Amino acid sequence: MKETGNTVSFFLPRTHVHSVGMEKLINAFDSHTHFWATGQVAEGLKLHDLKSAEAVSELKILPQHYRSQWLVGFGWNQNEWPQKTFPDKKILDKVFPDTPVFFSRVDGHASWINSCGLRELSKLGFDFSKNINGGVIARDERGEPTGILLDQAHIAALMKLPDFSNQQHQLFFKTSQSIFNKAGFTHIRDMSMHEGAWNILRQMEDQKQLTVAVESLVTAESLDDLSNVLTVIKKLRTDGSKQLRVAGVKIFIDGSLGSQTAFVSEPYALGSQTAFVSEPYAGSQENGLLIWKPEEIKAVLRAAWPLGYQVAIHCIGDAAVTTAVQAAREVSADGILGRLNLEHVQLISPETVQLMKPLHITCHMQPCHWLSDKSFLKESLSPKLFSYLFQWELLRKNKIPFFFGSDSPIERPSLADTIKALADSTEAGIPALKADWKVYHQHPDAGWIASHTEIESGAVKQVYFRGEPLL
Ligand SMILES: [Zn+2]
Repeated sequence: MKETGNTVSFFLPRTHVHSVGMEKLINAFDSHTHFWATGQVAEGLKLHDLKSAEAVSELKILPQHYRSQWLVGFGWNQNEWPQKTFPDKKILDKVFPDTPVFFSRVDGHASWINSCGLRELSKLGFDFSKNINGGVIARDERGEPTGILLDQAHIAALMKLPDFSNQQHQLFFKTSQSIFNKAGFTHIRDMSMHEGAWNILRQMEDQKQLTVAVESLVTAESLDDLSNVLTVIKKLRTDGSKQLRVAGVKIFIDGSLGSQTAFVSEPYALGSQTAFVSEPYAGSQENGLLIWKPEEIKAVLRAAWPLGYQVAIHCIGDAAVTTAVQAAREVSADGILGRLNLEHVQLISPETVQLMKPLHITCHMQPCHWLSDKSFLKESLSPKLFSYLFQWELLRKNKIPFFFGSDSPIERPSLADTIKALADSTEAGIPALKADWKVYHQHPDAGWIASHTEIESGAVKQVYFRGEPLL
């Protein structure tokens, strides 16, 4: 039946009102980022494309690659090399005999250091004779450090390095901001806030140069660090910034899947890693590391929640997620309530999702990790653990709130990568997300610095921040 006159438009599909394929995100949000590091990595020496450990001899070294006298780089991944074992100091020594070198692994959980660097670290007070809780100093048959540090040992060494110059810091933030804006993001959650960073960003805000809204967390490296961190949060909360918010405290309780240090309930497939001497609190070479004791996790919740601060816990392995959730349940049972953010949750068991239900939990996931990790996950995880991967649909069905992000600079911030990863992962049997992905890439506070992003088939067309176009 043909329609005539005005009735035709009534029967047209609603989509015709909009331009074809254009989608809009309100307050486009990357829910897990390292803001400063994103700029630092972009400006720094990149090791992502190394074809082997020996290929460090072909690197083009520039003046901005130095941190004081140290040569620093980021992004190597032994899983991409012909020989998939960790490299050692000798390979670096051949190319850099007299310069201290500190190269961070692509997941930010391991470092590769030359002999000169090891000597410098000793001078700076790093004690290689002792093992570090929650970390690994890889050693050869004679007990000598091989030049590989994992997790807390890596972090402890990194914190000993001399600082970048103030000029370098400012450059890194500006570069980072531009990366997020170009990728379509106006709102980010920064997992690595500290007072120095805040001050630089505050200055940018005052000069109207800050084109992102930043929700942030301050990391406590250990329980000894906690009261200090709570004091910093209190101070930043009274600062009166409009674009910067501080949500609470962050801790790391396990490692990463790529380093086989994420704390999992079933052993990793054996044979791919070198032997380590390590004394984590729990776990083993086979099951990864649990860096914080349950009692210590509970102490953080008990200290932060009554002050109204959120707690964010880095937990990648299913056993780490369960440990975090159990701790939160026990503290809540004592009548102490608060918000808990679970970062990454790459593996979750269905039982643990049920335990999450009565708590105020938000999960922060990075679909893009699927794209880079899928090459090794099948071999490295048991079939049961593989079935626990990327459970966004299970979380959705159980009404546990979650958001998507990039973990930049671990991955690039990208809406298109999320779309691609969600599609690609279903082909490997990961249950498809039965909802609009955009919901998980928008900041929950839609009224905080009104911004929006226009995209077409995943590509960013325009970004509006306070009504002004940025691109
Ligand atoms: Zn992170």
